[in-house]
Amino acid sequence: MRIAELHIYQKDLQLKRPYTMAGTALHALDSTIVKLVCDNGLVGWGETCPVGPTYQPEHAEGARAALAQLAPAMIGESALTPLLLRRRMDAHLNGHNQAKAAIDIALMDLIGKHHKMRVCDLLGGAITEKVPSYYAIGIASPEDSVRQAREKADEGFPRLQIKCGGRDIDEDIAVIHKVWEAVGNRVRLAIDANRSFTARDTLLLSLSCRQIPVVIEQPCNTMEEIASIRAQIHHPVYLDENTETINDVLRAISLGICDGFGLKLTRLGGLNAIATVRDICTARSMPHSCDDTSGGDIIAAACAHVGATVDPGLLEGVWIGAPYYQEHYDPENGIQVKNGYINLPQAPGLGVTPDESRIGKLSASFS
Ligand SMILES: [Mg+2]
Repeated sequence: MRIAELHIYQKDLQLKRPYTMAGTALHALDSTIVKLVCDNGLVGWGETCPVGPTYQPEHAEGARAALAQLAPAMIGESALTPLLLRRRMDAHLNGHNQAKAAIDIALMDLIGKHHKMRVCDLLGGAITEKVPSYYAIGIASPEDSVRQAREKADEGFPRLQIKCGGRDIDEDIAVIHKVWEAVGNRVRLAIDANRSFTARDTLLLSLSCRQIPVVIEQPCNTMEEIASIRAQIHHPVYLDENTETINDVLRAISLGICDGFGLKLTRLGGLNAIATVRDICTARSMPHSCDDTSGGDIIAAACAHVGATVDPGLLEGVWIGAPYYQEHYDPENGIQVKNGYINLPQAPGLGVTPDESRIGKLSASFS
């Protein structure tokens, strides 16, 4: 089963309401979809979708340029050898994990369809068919944050994340106290500053919320800043944006600067890369999520499949974009969050079949 065609599409995913993080408000997401067609007619789907151009070093146009650089090296290769193709991609282009991840996801979709196995089974086996999700409450007033928190807790989300940063630290502290008072006995809480806090503000927030059991995710920009205040913080600290590679995860664990991770599937390089990190985290009992930065049904399915393989005691949930955007690529089996959980797809491969009228514009084709 050899790769005969590689097609790259660009899709704007329109959001129901602006997605807000520290210093950022997004109204649509620029997603890149990869379609691999093999010489036996089997089709595999991949996707990568940065959440805007400032969340991490990669951006959407860069992903498409990197895919165009990689595509000629993929044509004619066996689709059944994802490890060899990963090495081949690395030999043709340094870095650009997000683009390589889209190909890795499409390969795993193909391999699953070829063997009539789901991706979760290729990754070792699903421990659950209902994968816990979590909801991220954007930057908002205390009143709006409480309203959203109550609504999402009522829906059944087992965990909520509160976005912080980009404003006076007192406002963030007020939001955390109000949300904790409203739903703290019903859901687990995390706050996510998306790199925006100074070390000083992280300390002030941790002191001011000392009695509130929240995880503080990616408070500062660098591992070094977090290391400088680590011993003075009263809360568990997770890294997210700082884990751009498997080596970053190893470095953070060896430095002892965090208690868990918000993992992003495409940032790490795809399904096989995040499965490696899953196993590293298991070896060190590090809780983590299995998310991606954003994306539609293809990314959501990939995240759900890997999330289903994680030790439930270590899984912090699978965030997907579905609650925020308006449409699905797969009108029948689009991935959704229902009552706070994602039903794992049942069909071989990723288990989603995009309607090609819904995946945007063709950007480039290779054969
Ligand atoms: Mg995060």
